[in-house]
Amino acid sequence: PPPAEKFEYQAEVSRLMDLIVNSLYSNKEVFLRELISNASDALDKLRYLSVTNPELSKDAPNLDIRIYADKENGIITLTDSGIGMTRQELVDCLGTIAQSGTAKFMKALKDSKDAGGDNNLIGQFGVGFYSAFLVADRVIVSTKSPKSEKQYVWEGEANSSSFTIQEDTDPQSLIPRGTRITLHLKQEAKNFADPERIQKLVKNYSQFVSFPIYTWQEKGYTKEVEVEDDPTETKKDDQDDQTEKKKKTKKVVERYWDWELTNETQPIWLRNPKEVATEEYNEFYRKAFNEYLDPLASSHFTTEGEVEFRSILYVPPVSPTGKDDIVNQKTKNIRLYVKRVFISDDFDGELFPRYLSFVKGVVDSHDLPLNVSREILQESRIVRIMKKRLVRKAFDMILGISLSENREDYETFWENFGKHLKLGCIEDRENHKRIAPLLRFFSSQSENDMISLDEYVENMKPEQKAIYFIASDSITSAKNAPFLEKMLEKGLEVLYLVEPIDEVAVQSLKAYKEKDFVDISKEDLDLGDKNEEKEAAVKKEFGQTCDWIKKRLGDKVASVQISNRLSSSPCVLVSGKFGWSANMERLMKAQSA
Ligand code: ADP
Ligand code: MG
Repeated sequence: PPPAEKFEYQAEVSRLMDLIVNSLYSNKEVFLRELISNASDALDKLRYLSVTNPELSKDAPNLDIRIYADKENGIITLTDSGIGMTRQELVDCLGTIAQSGTAKFMKALKDSKDAGGDNNLIGQFGVGFYSAFLVADRVIVSTKSPKSEKQYVWEGEANSSSFTIQEDTDPQSLIPRGTRITLHLKQEAKNFADPERIQKLVKNYSQFVSFPIYTWQEKGYTKEVEVEDDPTETKKDDQDDQTEKKKKTKKVVERYWDWELTNETQPIWLRNPKEVATEEYNEFYRKAFNEYLDPLASSHFTTEGEVEFRSILYVPPVSPTGKDDIVNQKTKNIRLYVKRVFISDDFDGELFPRYLSFVKGVVDSHDLPLNVSREILQESRIVRIMKKRLVRKAFDMILGISLSENREDYETFWENFGKHLKLGCIEDRENHKRIAPLLRFFSSQSENDMISLDEYVENMKPEQKAIYFIASDSITSAKNAPFLEKMLEKGLEVLYLVEPIDEVAVQSLKAYKEKDFVDISKEDLDLGDKNEEKEAAVKKEFGQTCDWIKKRLGDKVASVQISNRLSSSPCVLVSGKFGWSANMERLMKAQSA
């Protein structure tokens, strides 16, 4: 064969490789994701070009990716039947970063007069190929482009500033078209060369790449083989002359190796929502999130324009961690894909607010780079827009449950996730108008079934201006509160806020449909029924009594006043206008105890 030519990496690549090998990713398994993503890009390019030039794919009509793990020797081989690279492309693509082949391809596409623009091809700058050196100390790329007669081999080592290129003349190595990447794993990464592990990684990262990915797997099938009659076996029945004639068989497992399809090629979210049955959504939910119960609701949508992404969101039927500690819960409920390649499910509010962390789903973006990092997520304008839209869709979905004919569905939802929404009142002012209609409370007129704020407002007296509530630790004690007497007498409905978080949530909302929330236990409660004359008379009569009581109680109370708020109880203790309610005080005490 002609001698190998030696090339120096572009300085940036050397630096990048240093970075990759030493620090950038602690998560070494991503090499597989990157290589599969490149293979998928190469297949995309071939597929695209062969639309106008069918000749291109004739040498190898099947578009697929094959991964072979050689456990014994610690070698992984990944072969695709994509567009491949010419010698010059090898020099340009696998020695520099600025010249991403995908980017070039896009430019060529744009420049061409038939530029239709295919979003699947948008290449993003990334560490991509070089992540092979996370796990390998020697990488061999053998590639055959349909544009070239010859096949070429690129070879690089982890701690070297140069690589070589040479014609591939080994008959064993020749392929009709595409690229084969061979990774000689580092000692500490040798355990990646395990068919089962590779299968798992493929399933996890590239489940939804749109080309078939085959992995080399050991398989078995059971086969019946004839066995000799066992002479020790005594016959129980001699009527069975027939069975005697039948030959005895035994089941044995026959082992063999073969390619196994490891991914689903058409992700459900890329399909037209009109053509997907509910059961399919449910099945995907169960499969993707390892659940056995069906979700309460799902929502499948595409957004276009400024930011393009597709998503399926789900509301689970139960809350897995119980109802406590929702703030500090870190879930892995939203799986982010970029162009069908799994990126991450490890988020902390970047894609979805934490109070909605119970929502599960997948999001597939076309506009984010494949190597998107936490930092990028936090600062990206695209991600901010995505988050906004996802939140809206999530609320639409929850609203859908609340409007469902089956009232039980929303009761279930509320029982599991009501607390999350109340937290949302506190944390997400921007979405108050979406959260508020979803809230549910018990009330003086509905002690057994919770009501919505809309129901409350509909039930308001014509002259009533506010939404009244009392915060307490139980319905019983709310019912027995002396403040309630007058309200009930007047036929005014009062919400019972019996969960610790309720009061803060309602205070954050301040109002609903322009009706303020008013705590009936606060001292300045105005029911609009003041009778000045009568009050003056009563004040005159009992003024001294009040003074006397205040003197006796001293600092224990702030003041003693005449009130028109009671109808049968002689007196009541109320909170000051600006102080904590009795309920809050109880909560604060409990916390500091
Ligand atoms: P990116 O994929 O973002 O362009 P990579 O570092 O992953 O960056 O890959 C660099 C370039 O190498 C690609 O753009 C492509 O031109 C080329 N390349 C890598 N892998 C393959 C492959 N399997 N088949 C064809 N070309 C490839
Ligand atoms: Mg890449």
